[in-house]
Amino acid sequence: MFDLTGKVAVVTGGNGGIGLGMARGLAEAGARVVLSGRDAAKGTAAAKQIDAVFIAGDVTLESDCDALMAGAASLLGRVDILVNNAGINIRGRPESLAVGDWTRVIETNLTSAFMCAQAAHPHMLRAGGGKIINIGSMMSVFGAPYATAYAASKGGIVQMTKSLATAWAADNIQVNAVLPGWIDTDLTRAGREQVEGLHERVLARTPAGRWGEPRDMAGVAVFLAAPASDFITGAAIAVDGGYSALG
Ligand code: NDP
Repeated sequence: MFDLTGKVAVVTGGNGGIGLGMARGLAEAGARVVLSGRDAAKGTAAAKQIDAVFIAGDVTLESDCDALMAGAASLLGRVDILVNNAGINIRGRPESLAVGDWTRVIETNLTSAFMCAQAAHPHMLRAGGGKIINIGSMMSVFGAPYATAYAASKGGIVQMTKSLATAWAADNIQVNAVLPGWIDTDLTRAGREQVEGLHERVLARTPAGRWGEPRDMAGVAVFLAAPASDFITGAAIAVDGGYSALG
């Protein structure tokens, strides 16, 4: 049910943080993994850790998304699983957020996921089906005064997931979203430095009483990539230590 032997998985932003945590789980379940990101040194080091392949690329460029899927297929023979994980946050109150920064966040977090899914689709058709896992956020559900663009991008991820799921169900491609709670990564380390009291507020509000680790994201990735989830599509699963359950 959870065996990924013979499958090929592509993880964008897989050179660190949540992406690498998920990639590690997929590799342990038997998949051959392709990691992608812009930072080649970080990517090569990460790939070495889990015996994966690294392909450098910027997911805001359609040509790089196409090249990533083509590269994975040519190096490893197929593409079965895509994790759309690459993401950034540019924090700032909406009245002073530059439109250029808004666009950068939307393009990196949302448009990229669409372009990579589109690029993966023909490969998944050839493989007889596929699994797409899109990374949302608690900001897919909640808002925050410093996260207008980020929340818009992550809300969009959930709605895009549902649309892709309905469009491609007949192709045996399941498309789901994962909504991580607060996970200790480079991204949130920057947040903790920039937003006073964030660390303590997260601890106080998370019923599990701790920040998540990238490792906490491995199980859901394996589940949504494996035959175990073949009848699940268009869902958004929170992996948040209970954060979103607390009223
Ligand atoms: P990291 O900053 O550790 O990882 C982000 C990854 O995205 C990096 O590997 C980075 O690689 C890659 N990336 C960024 N921009 C681009 C780009 N233009 N092209 C290709 N790759 C890019 O953060 P996290 O692991 O925390 O974040 C991963 C995902 O999880 C993001 O979508 C984030 O929004 C989401 N998330 C994180 C949460 C958390 O608490 N940490 C909570 C909810 C959601 P490189 O710089 O080499 O390009």
